[in-house]
Amino acid sequence: MAACESARQLNRSLNLRGSLELHNFYDSQELTKALCPDIPVLLNRPHAARRAARYFVEQFPGKSLYAVKANPSPALLKLLFREGVTHYDVASIDEVRLVHSTLPDAVLCFMHPIKSEAVIREAYHDHGVRVFSLDSIEELEKIERATGGAEDLTLCVRIKVASEFAQISLASKFGVEVDQSVELLQRARQVADELGICFHVGSQAMTPLAYVHALERVRTAIVEASITVDIVNVGGGFPSIYPDMAPPSLNHYFSAIDRTFEDLPISYSAELWCEPGRALSAEYNSLIVKVEQRRGNELYINDGAYGTLFDAAHIGWRFPVQLLGDGSDHAASTEYSFYGPTCDDMDHMAGPFMLPADVKAGDYIEIGMLGAYGSAMRTKFNGYGSIDDYDVTDEPMASVYVGDNLDRTDRENVVSFPGA
Ligand SMILES: *Cc1c(COP(=O)(O)O)cnc(C)c1O
Repeated sequence: MAACESARQLNRSLNLRGSLELHNFYDSQELTKALCPDIPVLLNRPHAARRAARYFVEQFPGKSLYAVKANPSPALLKLLFREGVTHYDVASIDEVRLVHSTLPDAVLCFMHPIKSEAVIREAYHDHGVRVFSLDSIEELEKIERATGGAEDLTLCVRIKVASEFAQISLASKFGVEVDQSVELLQRARQVADELGICFHVGSQAMTPLAYVHALERVRTAIVEASITVDIVNVGGGFPSIYPDMAPPSLNHYFSAIDRTFEDLPISYSAELWCEPGRALSAEYNSLIVKVEQRRGNELYINDGAYGTLFDAAHIGWRFPVQLLGDGSDHAASTEYSFYGPTCDDMDHMAGPFMLPADVKAGDYIEIGMLGAYGSAMRTKFNGYGSIDDYDVTDEPMASVYVGDNLDRTDRENVVSFPGA
């Protein structure tokens, strides 16, 4: 604690001189030793996001759109763009404005199938958006009205597909049933300069079969409506890696998608798109939290369900953890759960999170793989939600872009169900 006190004083004096913001750290250990942070700290790993972007840009057999909702950090948007991610999947007018102002040369694709007319108008006229998704005739008519009958539209009809292979369903809310899609596809074909079909298999899809099955529905839709399709958009869902959730390597997804796409009744010039959110951003952030109190194996920490740990609380996601500081080399032998800082009982992350037996108040824990749907979920509820952020240069706790994970040849895994 004495070390922490002097670090805090140093910290304050550095802050006064305004030079602290310029200082970055190698890793979470170095940072906590130097700063003893009292509020949660988000660590950015630009190199990890660059590596993910390069992988999609070079290996995906089509165009990769970044799904901005996974992590709208302007620093992340800029570095993805520099690595060649030129198209962005946006789903609200604020995301449209954010990406248009951050990356004026980016191509914006408005992939939310239910929008207000005012929002479509602003997106089209003020921000140059030409790509819109839809799943109803109502929405088609709205788009026609709001754009003044524009003739330069790319319209992507969202169809409903199964979510059975994914950890998080996106199956019930949006998408027209294939057997009811004929009229919509035919009418959209008449309005659109380019017509696409899109879907979302659900987030963290644990097998490439999710995409193969969904693409078979695209085939049925094309055949039943007898239309020409210019774009097939396989959406997001590409997995990252978490405790108990090690997916097959991404190249298996890419090759399964490529093979099935090539076999569709589409023209030679048809384009293949995807919209990864999680896979491009998961490795970008981790989080340092402080243990404020320990009661049995419940740790009261300073971030939680209304902050960066929304998924850990609300869908029981188990993120990887490590204890920082002196006890950090002891075996992670004990199962803990976490309480976040707000006064709400629901601010609870059940885990279990594996850490050494001797965790105590004042310790710091790093929680990994929070770049996707982590920092994006933060609120100010109950006066919490303040956070610092720093760049670090060490590796994320896990990566699907290095070593074995880059080409896991374990074929069994390719067809197994998650968490079974
Ligand atoms: C959320 C979303 C994505 C990104 O999904 P991930 O599972 O994070 O890859 C892509 N497209 C649409 C339409 C979405 O709603």
